[in-house]
Amino acid sequence: MRVFDIVFIGAGASSLMASSFLKNRSIAIIEASAKIAPKIKISGGGRCNFTNKRVNSQNYLGDSKLIETTFKSFGQKELLQFFDKNGLKYELRDNGKYFCQNSSSQIIEIFSRLTKGCEFFLGERVKSVSHKKNFIIKTDKQMIEAKKLVVSSGGLSCSSLGATEIGYEIAKQFGHTIVTPTPALVGFTLQKEQFWMKSLSGISLKVALHVEGKIFEEDMLFAHRGISGPSVLSASLYWKKGSIWIDFSPKIKISTLLRNKTKKQISSVLPFPKRFTKEYLSSISLDDMGVYKLKDNELKKLEELNHYEFSPAGNFGFSKAEVTRGGVDCSEISHLSFESIMQKNLYFIGEVLDVTGELGGYNFQWAFSSAVAMVKNMEQGL
Ligand SMILES: Cc1cc2nc3c(=O)[nH]c(=O)nc-3n(C[C@H](O)[C@H](O)[C@H](O)COP(=O)(O)OP(=O)(O)OC[C@H]3O[C@@H](n4cnc5c(N)ncnc54)[C@H](O)[C@@H]3O)c2cc1C
Repeated sequence: MRVFDIVFIGAGASSLMASSFLKNRSIAIIEASAKIAPKIKISGGGRCNFTNKRVNSQNYLGDSKLIETTFKSFGQKELLQFFDKNGLKYELRDNGKYFCQNSSSQIIEIFSRLTKGCEFFLGERVKSVSHKKNFIIKTDKQMIEAKKLVVSSGGLSCSSLGATEIGYEIAKQFGHTIVTPTPALVGFTLQKEQFWMKSLSGISLKVALHVEGKIFEEDMLFAHRGISGPSVLSASLYWKKGSIWIDFSPKIKISTLLRNKTKKQISSVLPFPKRFTKEYLSSISLDDMGVYKLKDNELKKLEELNHYEFSPAGNFGFSKAEVTRGGVDCSEISHLSFESIMQKNLYFIGEVLDVTGELGGYNFQWAFSSAVAMVKNMEQGL
């Protein structure tokens, strides 16, 4: 059986970053997919939104102290310096999101170069782990021994890209608590009362979505299954069940637009695509008519477009979610080295932990930051 100093489960954002920083160690990286970094490849429409101008613990659900300590060790500034040094071409886009200028493949090329000394086992799935003096990792092809084991296997979203429950299973085996994993950064399904939105599939509107005291002023996309788009994905991180409300016209009050008792049709006065207004009018059983004809109660119903409150039925599930909320409880790992407090030489980094960011590059930032913070402390102990 081959013995390595360090074995990583998963060749995703966090393990590739960590192994790029580790020197003079024998390192094995086991990845279920045929190629490394499947998520980096497809993320951000193929251009990977890898961080954000504003990175703060407030953009995350999870242990804020751990998040802050980690970003102090390796934050957004250090990540940009790392990519500058390695020649990544990137650009700043809407809402402070940093994307690759050409293709996310450039990030993968950088990591491939920096991890040349590591041994990759691709298309190989970790099935179980046991521990005596060292860790014995059983894959579907072989057994590998590790002095240190890093669980960097990500969350449950997108199983087609290699996601498995292995990280949680290993954590549980060594006595860790798992905060129930649920899909996040995902679209909402709708209750019957909101089915009118389903007929708008393909339309996108800039809205302000209010959830649990947070506001997301970004695009909302009407989809066949419900609602999606940046504002909904971010809101899904905080939504627990219960109501959200949408301001469909955040820049201007509907009451102001309808104050003038004009003969113009409602659909000509409201600032929405005609299809949207038509479906909304039909949902409140109102005909499109001259604004001057509107009665007080009808005006009120239209004004609700500035405060449309409802409870989503659920979400699109793990297959469509970008990330997993929940994971390994952060109170059971060292806040400096990410080592398990239950089992020496066992580490957890990235999305497998109970830290989840909003949409906008926050999740890659967390994966990269937790990886480097771990290495800094691990190097001291090696
Ligand atoms: C479609 C999509 C788009 C996204 N876009 C963005 C974005 O633009 N910006 C952003 O910040 N975040 C984005 N994310 C989230 C981001 O990809 C993750 O948060 C990040 O990759 C987590 O890094 P990680 O290293 O923890 O896990 P991952 O990058 O998921 O890596 C874990 C790896 O472990 C492998 N693995 C799992 N189980 C096993 C096993 N049993 N054996 C062997 N290997 C295994 C997986 O195949 C995977 O490659 C996106 C996610 C998705 C699904």
